[in-house]
Amino acid sequence: MRYDAVVIGSGVSGMASALALAREGLSVAIVEANRHPAPLIRRFRRRSVWCDAGFHYFGGLTDGGGAGALFRYLGLFDRLNPEPLDSNGFDTVAFEGEPEVRLPVGLDRTRQTLKARFPGSADAVDAWIDAVASIQDTIPFANLSVDPGTFDPRPNMHRSLGHLLAEAGAEPDLVRFLDAHGYLLHGTHIDETPLHVHGTVIGFFLLAAHTFPRGGDTLADGFGHALKTMGVPVFTRTRANAIRSVGRSVAGIEVQDADGNHDLLECAAAVSAIHPKRLIQMLEPSVVRPAYLQRVRKCPETFPPFVLYFDAPNVPESLLRTNHYYVRPDRKSGRDEVLALMARPSDVDPETGSRRSLCAVREASGWEAVLRDPSDSAYAEWKEAMTADTVAWTGAVVPELRGRCETVAAATPRTYEREAGAFLGSVYGIRHAVGTEAVLPLGPLRGLFLAGQSVGMPGVLGAMISGVVAAAAIVGWNPIMDRIRRCA
Ligand SMILES: Cc1cc2nc3c(=O)[nH]c(=O)nc-3n(C[C@H](O)[C@H](O)[C@H](O)COP(=O)(O)OP(=O)(O)OC[C@H]3O[C@@H](n4cnc5c(N)ncnc54)[C@H](O)[C@@H]3O)c2cc1C
Repeated sequence: MRYDAVVIGSGVSGMASALALAREGLSVAIVEANRHPAPLIRRFRRRSVWCDAGFHYFGGLTDGGGAGALFRYLGLFDRLNPEPLDSNGFDTVAFEGEPEVRLPVGLDRTRQTLKARFPGSADAVDAWIDAVASIQDTIPFANLSVDPGTFDPRPNMHRSLGHLLAEAGAEPDLVRFLDAHGYLLHGTHIDETPLHVHGTVIGFFLLAAHTFPRGGDTLADGFGHALKTMGVPVFTRTRANAIRSVGRSVAGIEVQDADGNHDLLECAAAVSAIHPKRLIQMLEPSVVRPAYLQRVRKCPETFPPFVLYFDAPNVPESLLRTNHYYVRPDRKSGRDEVLALMARPSDVDPETGSRRSLCAVREASGWEAVLRDPSDSAYAEWKEAMTADTVAWTGAVVPELRGRCETVAAATPRTYEREAGAFLGSVYGIRHAVGTEAVLPLGPLRGLFLAGQSVGMPGVLGAMISGVVAAAAIVGWNPIMDRIRRCA
């Protein structure tokens, strides 16, 4: 078969890229190794409880803003029915023994809230909010008047959020607060997080925070419908094995289906929306510069997550429409440890009318020990210990849940790698960190482009944007942005 472009991987970045290319008139196909498209964001069911895997909430969907226009351009908006989280506190952050901080939607409201809570750091709060606002102003998908030709997805990667806070005289309590909140959302601590990455990811959430009625299933199904409408085939259970090239230009993608049949999908352009370390295994070493391969191999990963799912009839009202981040010091690492509790407002059991599902997300601490001894017994022991600790931590921070919720599933880094193809189970793929070289959308062959969270930004919106950026590298920015603007 011959296509104008083949997209490898049907995560949100791959599907967004394919839709953008199809909207611009190219014939496109997607190949996906998993049995379902978008395996990372799909929910799974344990007993009668729906469990969210790689999607809980997203930011940036403001009235008339770029994210809504992007969803419309991709043909998704009408099927999504986004539900706003609590605008007075979409996230709360609570340090042990201290009153919680509720983060409201809106940059100015956040500014007021944090100045009231951290009066000794008022100037630093101003510097932080001003920086986030000016970063948001430069992103074409947040500010539709930005000329995309001037958009640099990787500007100054050397200045960290930590630098900004230190220069602005932030006191330790504000630094700890922003660190704990940002860590689960961009996968890096503030002293290593480029200010631009932080301002993009957190900025979107501060502008608006929404979820979908059926979590990631709503988004995955919306993509599925739009791809079908646009006539884009998604070949599931089909693994890309090699990128074939003529000279240094892409000529096709060699794939293998679940029955072991091989095929070559000829194409002049390819978008790799998979982890870059998987991509480089598919390239013929003789046609790629060794420096490129080495640079990608050296990139560090974000942390692997551990997620526990509870059957929790009648989740306390306080946990609905607000994500709770609980923070405690970790003596071993000297850092804070964060536990995020998330319950979806719409997740109602049709039989009893009660809300059931509660999800606890944290870093998989101690996972290195399992990597050193990956035997099944070491893994089972580690999983049991993490489960017990997470149950105890959840009960300590929400006493109403003690003895009133039951664990139905646990997702480990191994689960994320096996079920969703997450490289080493890392939460957001490659770490976007100061002092590390970024992996760019332009690939090492003519006609090969990279998309995905490891190349763009962590999170579904960042991954979707990176998919459109890769499409724009193929068909040009102007037609895409013109259409997106018309969708605003
Ligand atoms: C626990 C957890 C919670 C999260 N919560 C949120 C949240 O609330 N909000 C948010 O915005 N983000 C969240 N995220 C992050 C979000 O899920 C990701 O940023 C996003 O889905 C990544 O999309 P992607 O397209 O870059 O990659 P992926 O979804 O990983 O897509 C890559 C695809 O490529 C496929 N593949 C790999 N190799 C091959 C091959 N050789 N051939 C064919 N196919 C291949 C894989 O099967 C996979 O489907 C969460 C992540 C985790 C782990």
